[in-house]
Amino acid sequence: MNYHVNEKGYYGSFGGAWIPEMMFPNIDELRRRYIEIIESDAFRSEFENLLKDYAGRPSPLYYAARLSEHYSTRIYLKREDLNHTGSHKINNTIGQILLAEKLGKTRIIAETGAGQHGVATATVCALKGIKCVIYMGALDVSRQAPNVKKMKMLGAEVIPVYSGNQTLKDATNEAMRDWICHPDDTHYIIGSVVGPHPYPDMVARFQSVISKEMKLQLQEKTGNPNPTRIIACVGGGSNAAGAFYHYLENEEVELIGVEAAGKGIDSGETAATLLVGSPGVLHGSRTVLMQNEDGQVTEPYSVSAGLDYPGIGPLHAFLYERGRAKYISATDDEVMKAALLLTKKEGIIPALESAHALAALEKIEAGADDINVINLSGSGNKDMETYLKYFGF
Ligand SMILES: *Cc1c(COP(=O)(O)O)cnc(C)c1O
Repeated sequence: MNYHVNEKGYYGSFGGAWIPEMMFPNIDELRRRYIEIIESDAFRSEFENLLKDYAGRPSPLYYAARLSEHYSTRIYLKREDLNHTGSHKINNTIGQILLAEKLGKTRIIAETGAGQHGVATATVCALKGIKCVIYMGALDVSRQAPNVKKMKMLGAEVIPVYSGNQTLKDATNEAMRDWICHPDDTHYIIGSVVGPHPYPDMVARFQSVISKEMKLQLQEKTGNPNPTRIIACVGGGSNAAGAFYHYLENEEVELIGVEAAGKGIDSGETAATLLVGSPGVLHGSRTVLMQNEDGQVTEPYSVSAGLDYPGIGPLHAFLYERGRAKYISATDDEVMKAALLLTKKEGIIPALESAHALAALEKIEAGADDINVINLSGSGNKDMETYLKYFGF
């Protein structure tokens, strides 16, 4: 079975480029040129050098002995939290800034919700001396003040978006509008495996370094490149896509994505897209999304801002439909408990997003000899206020 995108940009019936005519020139240029550019020797050597010396890769694969003892199984953590800027997002922004350079673009735009992708984008723009404009919902601008300050210090212009609910979905709409008005000089760095083709495939390729390293590291540590299962949290789905990528065709490796249940999947306050959503078109892609009977996108909720998105990448909609990957969810309370457990057992404070993957350990039946890899997508530095408020330290 082939789980990769076909030449039209589809995973089964999901994906494609459902875009307004005005955006066609931008997307068409990318679609025609991305493979040729990212597979060229010049691109690959610069990408690999920056991942190594700038982002700090390879990220360690750490055997979590005390957490393993707690769950009576073997648990490895893929430490994406140790990357420069604190998460996996830098893998994608490094790839896309190099691509933008090769396309001769002189201006970068991006959308951001929690601000993590905005910071990773502003970072690579500073690195390359390229103008950077970040669209952010006005509500998020006030909720995520530390990241807004970082983006500004890095030289980015942050534009608050006052339409709709003033959150990520509205920022994305505004970024798309900007791109339509600046087709010649601007590249749009999308932050996950979402959006019109070729973004889902392109971003998955940039993030696939995660599973590429995982294979080598597991071979070295266990004598077998294949774990029993890989567990990753899923917002748009880019860290999960990267962690699954080189195992997609190896059906013996179990793949588990964990969505944000928020206050519970039946509570109306959730972001578990696959579990409560239905097929439709969102941000240029046919996928599964949270919508009401009139097809209007409904507002997602999760304690973790990085998973608070009403859609999901088309690859995951396809893996779900085919049963290749399993998707479960974790509530805010389960996630808080899992984050505290990792902190106490291993001295690692995880991002709230990553703690969703950790919470899955309570829900699966793992045997004593199983090898479980948890993709620890990011660091908890950005979430300290939420943790302190919840636990009342
Ligand atoms: C943004 C983010 C996520 C969610 O995005 P995906 O595209 O689903 O990976 C998960 N973890 C962290 C730390 C993030 O910053």
